[in-house]
Order: sequence, then C-alpha cells, then structure tokens
Amino acid sequence: MSSSNSRSVFICAACHGSGRSLTTGVECAVCRGRGVVAIQEPAIRCAYCKGVGRQGGLAELCGVCGGGGWVTAPADRETCSRCGGTGHSLEIDIPCVGCRGTGVVARKK
Ligand SMILES: [Zn+2]
Ligand SMILES: [Zn+2]
Ligand SMILES: [Zn+2]
Repeated sequence: MSSSNSRSVFICAACHGSGRSLTTGVECAVCRGRGVVAIQEPAIRCAYCKGVGRQGGLAELCGVCGGGGWVTAPADRETCSRCGGTGHSLEIDIPCVGCRGTGVVARKK
C-alpha cells in the first residue's frame, strides 16, 4: 500500500490479540491471524460494542467496527446528540443512525 495516510495498529478485540477465533480456534477472520488491526487515524474505541468487538453473544461480531474494536472518527468531532455517545439507537438495538454506531459525529461548522 503506497498511501501516506496514517494508520495505527491496535490489538484485535475479536481474538484478544491471539490471532485465533475465541469460539472456533481457527484463524481470526477480523485480523487474519495477525492479532492486530490497522485503523485509519484518528481512531477511537468503538462506542457500539465499547471496544470488545462483539454485540450480543460471543459469536456475533460488532457490525460497526467489524470486530476489531476500533473505528475511524472525524478529526473535529463531538458526541452524537442522538444517542448521547453510546452508539445505540434508543428505540431498538441497532447502531444509531446519527453516528452509525461510533458515538461521535463531525462537528458542525
Ligand atoms: Zn483477531
Ligand atoms: Zn464495535
Ligand atoms: Zn449516535
């Protein structure tokens, strides 16, 4: 990859950095067995799963961060007023439509 975009590397939340699925023991699909995920900066902990990479039971990966536990946020951001930063829709248990589950939105100019 020749992109100069800055990325940071974080421990993969889905496998706790082991590179192996916690449920099946096969290679972790989220980090492809590397144990780490590279996230475009500025990276923040996923609000929807609180950084654990899962929603509901152990088997279900977080739909917001894909299981890695981290997401890219706007550089100039503020807490999402719709969900109050939780990333959850108030009505039903789906990611907030205002922030797509990240809990933050780009600050309005
Ligand atoms: Zn992993
Ligand atoms: Zn998540
Ligand atoms: Zn929100």
